[in-house]
Amino acid sequence: MNILVINCGSSSLKFQLIDMTNESVAAKGLCERIGIDGSRIVYSPAGKDKITIESPMPTHTEAIKLVLDCLTDKENGVIDSLAAINAVGHRVVHGGEKFADSIIINDEVIKVVEECNELAPLHNPANLIGINVCRELMPGVPMVAVFDTAFHQTMPPKAYLYGLPIKAYKEYKIRRYGFHGTSHKFVSKEIANYLGKKPEDLRTIVCHLGNGASICAVDHGKSVDTSMGFTPLAGLVMGTRSGDIDPAIVEYYANKEGLTLAETINVLNKKSGMDGLTGGKSDFRDLEAGYNEGDEACVNAIEIFCYNVARFVGAYVAAMNGVDAIAFTAGIGENSGFVRGKVCEYLGYLGITIDPEENAKRGENLTISTPDSKVKVCVIPTNEELMIARDTKALVEG
Ligand code: AMP
Repeated sequence: MNILVINCGSSSLKFQLIDMTNESVAAKGLCERIGIDGSRIVYSPAGKDKITIESPMPTHTEAIKLVLDCLTDKENGVIDSLAAINAVGHRVVHGGEKFADSIIINDEVIKVVEECNELAPLHNPANLIGINVCRELMPGVPMVAVFDTAFHQTMPPKAYLYGLPIKAYKEYKIRRYGFHGTSHKFVSKEIANYLGKKPEDLRTIVCHLGNGASICAVDHGKSVDTSMGFTPLAGLVMGTRSGDIDPAIVEYYANKEGLTLAETINVLNKKSGMDGLTGGKSDFRDLEAGYNEGDEACVNAIEIFCYNVARFVGAYVAAMNGVDAIAFTAGIGENSGFVRGKVCEYLGYLGITIDPEENAKRGENLTISTPDSKVKVCVIPTNEELMIARDTKALVEG
């Protein structure tokens, strides 16, 4: 069974064709600058060099047509015809409270996803365009929606309600939703498998540390709390996002800088976090280089980042009355032994000790805690596309 995984952004589209007989990636790629001058597709068929094709893509329709042309191309394609695509899995950012799991797409599901648009105005409309174009170009092929928020729908009210007038929740749907759910689901299952356990046997804390970063408490297989909130701006101090701040700062900063509310939120999303603290550095490779040179802003930024990860881990140990395993994942979590080591320095009270040699490795499933450590600490590379493909296969096969 071949599953096409589509992740549609407002001006970009990522795709992977996954052969589910062995879960291998047959081809993957990215369409960039959709609707903007200079659009191009970068296409990587397995085992061959990647190919870049400049081609006008005024809308997502042309982008998806080009993806399908690449996949079926005589020379560099990986399938003979579109009939070899058995199902399509779509990443959808926001499923609100309507979707607690992935779902086969039909007209009714599309209507309900549209109702969630106001909760993710930048992302959901683009996700829906991808769905609609694929349905048009591949009629009869089953499609599945996989939501970033769905995994967190198991959170109890004490974790998802804010201390606001209750109409905020009842009338305006303001609550903690959480994001990165597909990654947290994949990693929490994968770490259990790697440790030879079932997810239902473990209390796990997943640290998804990428440019966007969030932490999730997974209690016996279910998300019970997570650091992102109503939007992905909340929680950890991130690459360019502020994470949690005193909400009164918004008005105060807007007044000081003469900004509108929308402009201030834009600063919190795009000009804060590591980038804001250092005046322009958000990539941890640059931040670590600065740290090692003694650059004060980089030292502070990294210390703040690691301290905040450790604070959330502590909170989630309390939420689950203990923890059996901690997983580091995503760009920073998988690659930076430096950050992992610094976070774990705070966790000695849990009986955690780290093996520096193992912690120096990266990019594969590995255990970085010592055998006598009371909690297993692991690196588990995330794979959201594979999670989407697995959910799609399970639903399509019924
Ligand atoms: P993601 O959002 O998961 O793709 O993560 C991207 C981030 O991972 C980059 O912005 C870097 O901060 C970080 N990253 C990637 N490779 C490395 C590395 N070798 N060492 C440290 N950080 C890395």
